[in-house]
Amino acid sequence: MRYPDIPTAPRIALRRARVPLCLIESVPSTATWEQDAEGAALVDILIDQGRLAALSPSGQPGDPARDGGFVDVDLAGRQVWPMFLDCHAHLDKTQILPRASNPDGSFSGAREGSMADRLRHWSRADIEKRMDFALRCAAHHGVAAIRTHLDSHAEQAETTWEVFQDLREKWRGRITLQAVALAGADIYATPFGERLLDLVGEAGGIVGAFLRLPDGETRMPDDIDESLDQLFERAARRGLDVDLHVDETGNAASRMLERIARSALRTGFPGRIVCGHCCSLALQDARQVQETLELCAAAHVGIITLPTANLYLQDRRTGATPRWRGVTLVREMLAAGLTVAVGGDNVRDPFFPYGDHDMLDTLRQAVRILHLDHPIADAPRLSGPNAARLMGGLDLGSLRPGSAARLILFNARSLNEMMSRPQSDRLVLDRGRISAAPLPDYAELDALIPGRSASAPKENAP
Ligand SMILES: [Zn+2]
Repeated sequence: MRYPDIPTAPRIALRRARVPLCLIESVPSTATWEQDAEGAALVDILIDQGRLAALSPSGQPGDPARDGGFVDVDLAGRQVWPMFLDCHAHLDKTQILPRASNPDGSFSGAREGSMADRLRHWSRADIEKRMDFALRCAAHHGVAAIRTHLDSHAEQAETTWEVFQDLREKWRGRITLQAVALAGADIYATPFGERLLDLVGEAGGIVGAFLRLPDGETRMPDDIDESLDQLFERAARRGLDVDLHVDETGNAASRMLERIARSALRTGFPGRIVCGHCCSLALQDARQVQETLELCAAAHVGIITLPTANLYLQDRRTGATPRWRGVTLVREMLAAGLTVAVGGDNVRDPFFPYGDHDMLDTLRQAVRILHLDHPIADAPRLSGPNAARLMGGLDLGSLRPGSAARLILFNARSLNEMMSRPQSDRLVLDRGRISAAPLPDYAELDALIPGRSASAPKENAP
């Protein structure tokens, strides 16, 4: 099945596009959608000067495009989605394979490999080259916004945040970038922590930390509540949001998520709170789970699941096959009313050695790993509207009349067809124009790998 020609015209009417209804916002109350078994409907999408002028059920009377000078394109039921958001990435670590390997695929191996690489290689030029490469991958796959965590150690933070701000400017209008300072929770109580908060505040960033009980330990630290209260109070004083790496472990005694929610309620934190991973919750007893989810709902804690890295790192033991999938309780969280999104997390680094900043690939894996099917109708929310809600303030992730027409067309008529092939031939139709962002060549990265000849082709401008 080949795509019909998409004209370069100021007014385009995409006829018979199949759109999951969970990706349509502000649907006219008069519209009558004929949903299919996967919760999608045939929609006519009118694009006027790069904006979504109207969305209406296909083939119904009262066509708003009649006599409007729109050029018709019949999509014959192909899926059309808003461009993706990746609400949790690590663009400072991306692409450091193969110079930074993880010898046994373990969490500790990942931390050590990544730290050694940072100390040795993370110059301004190195970070910029890899981040820009990642952004071009993401643009090619139809990603319109990324929130990245940035390792923010004393000797690294300033360099990395400078590069981030330069690239945020360079990519403005194509990929919206947000950044989170990733550090130990106790760092904010130190003199460097104050400097880091200044840096984050000046860059319009988000306060982050990693919080997990190490393997083998059974008791939560005595000072954890005080430490969390201080983190929330410091962030609140500066009007910053918080985005944390939480319980990324198979140690069921790691109950940071519950402590975070209690601290947020205790301190009356006014900003947005997002917690990523939350793996160990899946290993706790039903009463503990229910209590934690109720606290998260009360504290408006949003959750990001990172199934690719979890599947790779959790329950990894040398010579043994994993017995659990490593992911958190997404179904239960959604049922408890929490906003849950899916993020891409690490790409080609010691925490996850695969990936290409393609959120469709991440969503496809999430559907399979987390059983987001039967029914599948709401699964697309996790990489669209839910991610937008957790990132805050972005007019992305849903189709809404009046917003910029930032769309992806797929050569698939159903969600099943979408999820069964990689959709490498998708068309990114950004503000009425087919995006020609090419996939960058891995050879471009050769110059960053010691001992590899720098035979990279000239870099394509994004
Ligand atoms: Zn992460």
